[in-house]
Amino acid sequence: MTEVKNKNITILGAARSGIAAADLLSKLKAKVFVSDNANGERKVKEQNILKGLGIPFEFGKHSDRVFEADFVVLSPGIPVASAIVQKIMSKNIPIYSEIEIAGWYCKSPLIAITGSNGKTTTTTLIGEMLKTEQPKRIQAGNIGDPFASQVLNSIEDNWAVIEVSSFQLETIDGFHPKVAVILNLAPNHLDRYDGSFEKYVRAKLRILRNLNKNDFIIYNLDDNLLVEKIKQFESKKISFSSNDKTANAYLHDSELILENEFLINTEDIKLNGIHNYMNIMAASLASQIAGISNESIQKVLKEFIGVEHRLELVKELNGSCYVNDSKATTIESLAVALQSFKNPIVLIAGGKDKGSDFSKINNLIEKSIREIILIGNAKGKISKSWASIKPVHFADTLENAVQLATKIAHEKDTVLLSPACASFDMFEDYEDRGKQFKNIVNGLS
Ligand code: ADP
Repeated sequence: MTEVKNKNITILGAARSGIAAADLLSKLKAKVFVSDNANGERKVKEQNILKGLGIPFEFGKHSDRVFEADFVVLSPGIPVASAIVQKIMSKNIPIYSEIEIAGWYCKSPLIAITGSNGKTTTTTLIGEMLKTEQPKRIQAGNIGDPFASQVLNSIEDNWAVIEVSSFQLETIDGFHPKVAVILNLAPNHLDRYDGSFEKYVRAKLRILRNLNKNDFIIYNLDDNLLVEKIKQFESKKISFSSNDKTANAYLHDSELILENEFLINTEDIKLNGIHNYMNIMAASLASQIAGISNESIQKVLKEFIGVEHRLELVKELNGSCYVNDSKATTIESLAVALQSFKNPIVLIAGGKDKGSDFSKINNLIEKSIREIILIGNAKGKISKSWASIKPVHFADTLENAVQLATKIAHEKDTVLLSPACASFDMFEDYEDRGKQFKNIVNGLS
């Protein structure tokens, strides 16, 4: 931990976590300066917040004032390889992420979640489980308030759970979770790692760098690479698996077994899909370590309907379920979604292509889909891969796509929005796309 009082600190990047870090550090009497090279016209809200906090800032550039700092707090959105970060490093100014500095002030023992997929869902589940018995628990990540804006309220006998990305882990130093959860390692964001999966994995594993033998690593036993990579660490290892009975938690037919005890039947859980059972097992193991009883864990599992825009059940209409999976912007996420439903799916997909090879999941399309409705720029490309396997329709708007789906869907089918594409051709972002879908579906009668 570094004393921050009267220190000059530059916050690079004025997104959510940057502003929270600026606020925390200025409350702790540091001299904070915020620099963001995005055009100020697009950052009016952020400027108003900083003005309200009395924190000096610049937008549209990074001036030399950035370097007048004892250390820099780096937003996860700015790559370490960028010119500005490289220049800061060349001047030997320490660079930390928001989770590092917030961690200095967190009195609660910490559960940190990383992995390529499932972080937000698992973090939210643990947050809900902790909340049942620890009213002052902290929960931070991609949704809700940043870690830095909550740490000053932390207390020693309640826990904190935070989601951490590989970008944030690149600039930690003393960050020390009591429990580190690694859900899986899959190629993701390789554009930020020179296309190197090995570099990405190394960044993820930094979550373990300060753990000692009294700490816990919760890991996915089905992920061979992960199993191999954690061998060298001395902390207590706790595993979960979709089938391996040697794991601390595993799935046996439709039963989740936790530390040799029956926890819950999957029929009693609202979340769908093996991937979610994996998230649930990881969350339950972490919550047990934090002292939460199995009864409280079961209660949460029976009620938790998932995180918004991730296989979120919107409505049942005429016997069909309408599901919003707008966060699925890759074919890997679509593949996970297609494996999560037993009954035929009427799929609404498409949007802005991310350079995907849609034919990679042709087998799943064949197996799980009744008909497909495509929207957005990628319509033509996707149709080339799938039209020979299943009926494909085009729609100009999301509204028309949903209307068409109501006509196609049979009783017990799932109408699934799982685009496998980015949203920016028709929507502000994936959240806007999901919200519009929900509004349209909720308006159906
Ligand atoms: P993250 O925060 O890591 O992006 P989310 O919890 O937001 O993960 O889930 C995003 C999408 O990732 C889900 O809609 C689902 O398609 C997929 N997913 C979630 N959990 C897993 C998992 N354990 N394994 C593989 N894919 C998953």
